[in-house]
Amino acid sequence: MKFEELSIHEDLLEAISFMNFEKLSPIQEKAIPMALQGNDLLACAQTGTGKTASFVIPVLDDLIRNGNKGTTTLIVVPTRELAVQIDQEIQGFSYFTSTTSKSVYGGDKGKDWDEQKRAITEGTNIIVATPGRLMQHLALGYVNFSSVRHLILDEADRMLDMGFYDDIRAILQHIPPKRQTLLFSATMPPNIRKFAHQILQNPETITISLSKPAEGITQTAYMAYPNQKNKILSYIFSQPNDFESVLIFSSTKRNVHEIVRKLSQILKDKTIEAISSDFEQQERNDVLMRFKSHKTNILVATDVLSRGIDIKGINLVINYDVPGDPEDYVHRIGRTARADATGEAITLISDADIPKFRRIEALIEKDVSKKQIPQDIGELPQWNKGHGSQNKNRKNFKKKNSNSNSQYKKKGFKRT
Ligand code: ADP
Ligand code: MG
Repeated sequence: MKFEELSIHEDLLEAISFMNFEKLSPIQEKAIPMALQGNDLLACAQTGTGKTASFVIPVLDDLIRNGNKGTTTLIVVPTRELAVQIDQEIQGFSYFTSTTSKSVYGGDKGKDWDEQKRAITEGTNIIVATPGRLMQHLALGYVNFSSVRHLILDEADRMLDMGFYDDIRAILQHIPPKRQTLLFSATMPPNIRKFAHQILQNPETITISLSKPAEGITQTAYMAYPNQKNKILSYIFSQPNDFESVLIFSSTKRNVHEIVRKLSQILKDKTIEAISSDFEQQERNDVLMRFKSHKTNILVATDVLSRGIDIKGINLVINYDVPGDPEDYVHRIGRTARADATGEAITLISDADIPKFRRIEALIEKDVSKKQIPQDIGELPQWNKGHGSQNKNRKNFKKKNSNSNSQYKKKGFKRT
């Protein structure tokens, strides 16, 4: 289905065409017509499927047709980056309209705070906010959300994971009950269903392929003890490749900086930077901007970046370690191959991470191929050790590997 076939205002259609959107993605085909009719929605689709436009387009169409006096729309999102990104997308879609929007997120007080306060008190049409920061403004009593008629919760699963449940409940107290509520989530665990049941009215439910990585992503894995991981990366980058833009994920903030330090020694011709929640907001924005504009080739990140953020043209995502939450794997590798493109995802699996990776394979219902680099980098952890059909070989495996394992232990080898 093409956007022209939607019965939406021509000013909006023009902006959509300027943004090079031609055909609706599957979630958009379902969500946009339902939202245009004013229904509440509970929509679940994996990252990179175009959820943002699914709510921005119907909201803007309503503002053009039914007036945009005061703050009409509140969009609540888990992270600052996502707030900025959605605000930018709104600015694009609303280019030919008189709609105003503003992102409201934490970080520095001072100038930002005053600008946000002004936007809120002067009735900016669409406020895209993180829950914590919005609560701070609400606490000061000048927020008037009485004309809000759309509430959107984006990345709702992430918000609940981050502990924003109470904040969102409190925010709801400030919004008229007569409104359209749209809830978007990449996953639909029971707590989201329960939450949705509490805040949505007779919602239409849309589910599009739960928790499966996009088809265009080639997934591979390498078994590696932590001290072998950099050698594998070095090999990967030494092969002919088109890895212009690479995102490396690590679970801990401490590791992120260590990886940048080590990789900078190995990959001298690449620009490598780190990003984590330790960074000041301005720094985070700057680092992201350099990566988005391809000034930085390799960005090493914690899961701060794994959900929601859309960066075009990422060729390769590397999981330096296996994420603890299987859903995070899907989110991380969803950073590549967005909206029909192709991309590659490589995961480094240490012996300690094997059970976690098995859970991931169960979730995505797929065995990821385990490769080996041709160079000899010493004995590697065994994927099949003591698992399933291999159980009968368990003892042999143990015997065979017990030496190398105990050597690692002796060396004071630490699991990451
Ligand atoms: P999600 O929120 O589901 O993770 P996004 O809304 O961030 O996904 O969209 C992912 C990418 O796909 C963005 O770059 C967006 O601009 C692009 N995109 C979304 N819908 C379309 C479409 N219909 N045609 C072309 N590009 C699209
Ligand atoms: Mg999104």
